[in-house]
Amino acid sequence: MKRTLYLFAALILLLALTACRSEIPQPEIEIISPIEGELLTEDSALTFTVTAPEGVLEQVKVSVDNKPVQFKEVELRSFARFSVPLPLAALGNGEHLLAIQALATEDESSALAFAERRFSSALPPAELRSISLSPDTVPQGQPITIDAVFSGEVKSVTGELFDRQFPFYPVGENRWRALASCRLFAVPGSEQFHLTFTDLAGAEHSEAYSFAVVDGEFPSYHIVLSESTGSRLNAETIERESARTNAVVREFSPEQLWESGPFLRPVEGGHFTSPFGQRRTFSTGGSSSHLGTDFGGLPTGTPIMAVARGKVVMAEEMIIRGNFVCIDHGRGLFSLYNHLSRGDVVVGQMVEAGDVIGLLGETGVATGPHLHLEMRLASWAVDPMTFLGNPPGFE
Ligand SMILES: [Zn+2]
Repeated sequence: MKRTLYLFAALILLLALTACRSEIPQPEIEIISPIEGELLTEDSALTFTVTAPEGVLEQVKVSVDNKPVQFKEVELRSFARFSVPLPLAALGNGEHLLAIQALATEDESSALAFAERRFSSALPPAELRSISLSPDTVPQGQPITIDAVFSGEVKSVTGELFDRQFPFYPVGENRWRALASCRLFAVPGSEQFHLTFTDLAGAEHSEAYSFAVVDGEFPSYHIVLSESTGSRLNAETIERESARTNAVVREFSPEQLWESGPFLRPVEGGHFTSPFGQRRTFSTGGSSSHLGTDFGGLPTGTPIMAVARGKVVMAEEMIIRGNFVCIDHGRGLFSLYNHLSRGDVVVGQMVEAGDVIGLLGETGVATGPHLHLEMRLASWAVDPMTFLGNPPGFE
């Protein structure tokens, strides 16, 4: 009987001890910043300490607006101090709920504690500080480098000029740059371009900027074409080929594929036979403006080289352009090679500056063997010589 009592007493003691051991005190969470209800207007940090009166800290979790936040691990003992960045752009403007969960353990026992804090954020909108164009007075058919400087960080910047949208790229702290083009057919006088940027809070802002377009002073030239050549230059064919090429140059690689420095001349030797922008009338009727630069005085079969690094996006035979190759250099810039006797590249192929892409010829509508080199920027034709000499937008 006594023995049974002893056993019973021992069991009670064991149960009591076990119960005691599972009752370690909760850890204490103290949030130092932000303070309750604080309005944050710039990136800051959540600072807090966790103390475990008994045992050691096993795990500390943080969430903002119910989304877990990753932060740098600190050594967890019985006390730890945390500093967790609060990047406001990622949170968005408005009210937020911060929640902290801390777990302390000792042997088989554990205790969990929670703490919450409400704060709000309002990032001030970034402002456009300055816009500069180079050149600031733009001749028809010339590329334009546009620099925009903001008072703070912005998410994205786009421009619109002559009904074409073009992206800006960050080039420094709060500084963005775009390469745009002045249409060959722009009317001399005052012109406007629009800049739209999205600030970190997600709000869109638009501003218009005026600049002067000046006459490109292009020469006129009369071209004698044979009846058979002239018949290929009809309005329907011109329209069809333009639509096809224009559609291709509207889709471009967002990254810059070309290497810094001037572009290469696409042929060795020879001379310029016809400049960009030349106003042409044809013996078979009609007129046009010359959208490229012609390199002549060279025999059929002369190697044609890529002016810069890029990706081949068109390689096919067309009625007017003849054997044709188009290279995407990224950021809206393309080079187009016409009248080749033979193309030596395929669509999708990457080419380096100086790689042979085909041979000079007189296929399509041409009055003799020559290379008609065209450059497109923001889908408009621009003077290729600007790139071969002193290209814009290079640092
Ligand atoms: Zn030409």
